[in-house]
Amino acid sequence: MKLYYNRTKIVATMGPASAKKDVLLAMIKAGVNVCRLNFSHGRPEDHKAVIDIIREINEQYKTNVGILADLQGPKIRIGLVKDGGIHLVNGTHIKITTQECIGNDEQIYITYDTFPQDVQANEIILLDDGKLQLRVIETNKKDTVICEVVHGGILTSRKGVNLPNTKVSIPSLTEEDLINLQFALKYDVEWIGLSFVRTGQDIIELKHIIAQSGKAAKVIAKVEKPEAIDNIDEIIAATDGVMVARGDLGVEMPLEEVPLLQKMIAAKCRAASKPVIVATQMLESMITTPRPTRAEVNDVANSVLDGADAVMLSGETSVGEFPVIVIETMAKIVRNVEEFGYSFNTARVSDTDPSSPDYLSNAVCESAVHLAQHTNAVGIVSMTTSGYTAFQISSHRPQASTYIFTSNKQLLNALSLVWGVRAFFYDKLESTDQTIADVNGILKSEDLIKAGDVVINTAAVPIIKQGKTNMLKVSIVE
Ligand code: PGA
Repeated sequence: MKLYYNRTKIVATMGPASAKKDVLLAMIKAGVNVCRLNFSHGRPEDHKAVIDIIREINEQYKTNVGILADLQGPKIRIGLVKDGGIHLVNGTHIKITTQECIGNDEQIYITYDTFPQDVQANEIILLDDGKLQLRVIETNKKDTVICEVVHGGILTSRKGVNLPNTKVSIPSLTEEDLINLQFALKYDVEWIGLSFVRTGQDIIELKHIIAQSGKAAKVIAKVEKPEAIDNIDEIIAATDGVMVARGDLGVEMPLEEVPLLQKMIAAKCRAASKPVIVATQMLESMITTPRPTRAEVNDVANSVLDGADAVMLSGETSVGEFPVIVIETMAKIVRNVEEFGYSFNTARVSDTDPSSPDYLSNAVCESAVHLAQHTNAVGIVSMTTSGYTAFQISSHRPQASTYIFTSNKQLLNALSLVWGVRAFFYDKLESTDQTIADVNGILKSEDLIKAGDVVINTAAVPIIKQGKTNMLKVSIVE
């Protein structure tokens, strides 16, 4: 199957609109690199069915589509409400209770046991993505909080609650998350996303559970809380990748701050060689119409220019009417920016700490990118077991294609999220010369390089030790 390869990758959220083999195959042909399973919705058997379809397509069509299992994290919701919807009137008072009940004009249930203990008077409570707003009048510190309705409206059952000012004491991984995590690990998904991350420790704990389960899934920290912005450096240091989760971020933070936060997070992720996904409402209007708004097209293009590794679709592909057209549209926007080469030119700062254990291999990876530029090389060809070299090279955004060879099968799909990277299986690490000849030969047989092309190879020598990248070779393909 001939695929077009965007450098900037596309993540598509799965749902009833896309969870069929023919639709998903058409989406993958149009440019999907990673499928996101949103554990806030859907039953385990639905997720399992999608995993099976993706794996089947990978097998049958030799694709490396990755899977991102997105855990709900400490998402707070209200309970069921009378007649499916109640009207909150501006200026009136309403009780929020931790005692389960059907909500009415006087009280609503919240799925957060220690809310009355954690919240303070005057803090803001946002309901339904910030559409409705309450202000805390008083709390009995036990089970009830009295609030004033600041912006009222119709409140329907099980809507999300955001508490931008409250120090929420719910653990970062809820019981439900732990069950979903084990499910995702059982089926060896490549990426685990965690919602509402607050500290680096949240990620360290998740990684600990993954390691204890004997699995190698990589982790995406979803940045969507003010606390995560405060702790962004330690979160990036702890995680394997980041999602700018603009949906909740735009509720928990002033909406007008989101564009610059996106740029700040993208720049920090690139400096740390960690992939970053820009998510939510990218082509939102395409849930119901086949053409996007001009502003949406600008948003996707500007996210590419900001240095995103991947752009993500949510409702557009999970429940939207045009799951294939939306991918075609996104791929075209991405491609058009990339054809002008904008994202290649934004230099990443070099690593400047010689005491770092990775300093030398990072310098080799950076040099590979510079050397490729100087020699007009068509490809940078590297080997990796952990993925580290691929993440490093990608973060310098080479103009040359990045071809990564690995014997780590799970990594083949995991790297689908990483900007510009195309991964291939290779497990015969006999000698450096032989390996370089083999991998270049594979690329030639795939028509990705041809005689006369300049290529840059990197390796860790001696090759059988699988150490850190420490060698660069420039050659002309025979
Ligand atoms: P969600 O996360 O789709 O799980 O809400 C993304 C976001 O908040 O932007």
